Amino acid sequence: MTIVFIAKETRQGETRVAATPETVGRMVKHGLEIQLQSGAGDGSFFADHLYAEAGATIVDLAAGLAAADILFKVATPTPDEARGMRKDSILVSFFSGVQNPDTAIALKEAGVTVWGMELVPRTTMAQKMDALSSQANIAGYKSVLIGASELGRYFPLLMTAAGTVKPSKVVVFGVGVAGLQAIATAKRLGAQVEATDIRPEVKEQVESLGAKFIEVETDAGNEEPSVYAKEASDDYKKRQAEAVGKSVAEADLVITTAQVPGKKAPVLIPLAMLETMKPGAVVVDLAVEQGGNCALATVGENIMHNGVKVVGTPNLPATMPINASELYSRNLLEVVKHLCPKSETEGEKPKVVLNLDDEIIGGSIAIHNGEILHEMTAKALETTEA
Ligand code: NAD
Repeated sequence: MTIVFIAKETRQGETRVAATPETVGRMVKHGLEIQLQSGAGDGSFFADHLYAEAGATIVDLAAGLAAADILFKVATPTPDEARGMRKDSILVSFFSGVQNPDTAIALKEAGVTVWGMELVPRTTMAQKMDALSSQANIAGYKSVLIGASELGRYFPLLMTAAGTVKPSKVVVFGVGVAGLQAIATAKRLGAQVEATDIRPEVKEQVESLGAKFIEVETDAGNEEPSVYAKEASDDYKKRQAEAVGKSVAEADLVITTAQVPGKKAPVLIPLAMLETMKPGAVVVDLAVEQGGNCALATVGENIMHNGVKVVGTPNLPATMPINASELYSRNLLEVVKHLCPKSETEGEKPKVVLNLDDEIIGGSIAIHNGEILHEMTAKALETTEA
């Protein structure tokens, strides 16, 4: 029988878990055997006994690692964790090999096959496995709540006996999944919202949420609509800075979400622009772990500069572990169903079918048989190993 082991997260502040009692029940029904490290769900308020009732066996780490055909995790393992994994087991987790070359080397040397959740192709077929989206949605929502609670003012327009309160002005950089949710959440709270993105085709989505799109003339070669952003040229950055300058200077809250897959996050609010902001204004930088979109953004710290607060809280999905784990777990449930399809032979349990020619599997597998298949990771390792 194919054994799926769900490990307890070890990264500091990581409260999420890669399966919930609901998805355990569904995996058991699919014909898989589930083992869970004791306490794995504690950070998300799912107790061991709920998993046991759903059909999981509760084990310790060593037993789970030894038995696992498939290992579920949320955060990229540490190199030490990677060295403890069984040869030929399949790790399904966020991987980010470019940013974690030591882990990539350890996994390669341990002979572990790696499915990187951030590598799942963004196609309609793979939508249910898209953990980048399920988690970014949470980050976008939470960024607004954090911004609102850091602000010394209301979001909505209020007419009171003591006078009228003007609505807050919010500017969102980057209209991907997180940015769209941030716009929707800020609008619901009553703010005036503007947004910008290097992909001009998102204008319609921004306007459909009742926000204003700040237009910047597109770079030649970047006109084709795409779900993946290309790196902006210096010239684009100059045009963008001019287009957003007034909005940023007047903003009460700026939320930055801009990323380019596999690259360091672009700096969209350099120090000079930050210094045009009003005292009391707040920036929440969702790209802080990728180097930050805003000058001075620092992981895990709130930096005050000229009365402007730059919030650098990392890993926002982990601040909402119940929903984050529920959604991530459903993403992984779909992955395991795709990797272990139901057998056509009556009564036969599902086995791993690692067909690298399958678009979703081939796109998501980063390491297999001691070989780095993900190009950007392989390139990053050449530099590390050189
Ligand atoms: P992301 O996290 O990679 O980046 C966030 C946003 O930042 C993107 O919209 C990007 O264009 C923007 N950005 C990058 N550099 C910028 C710059 N210099 N200035 C301004 N903006 C910049 O993006 P994401 O949330 O992963 O989503 C990207 C797109 O993919 C979205 O439109 C999303 O709806 C789409 N998507 C499609 C599918 C699917 O078709 N199945 C699945 C998921 C997401």
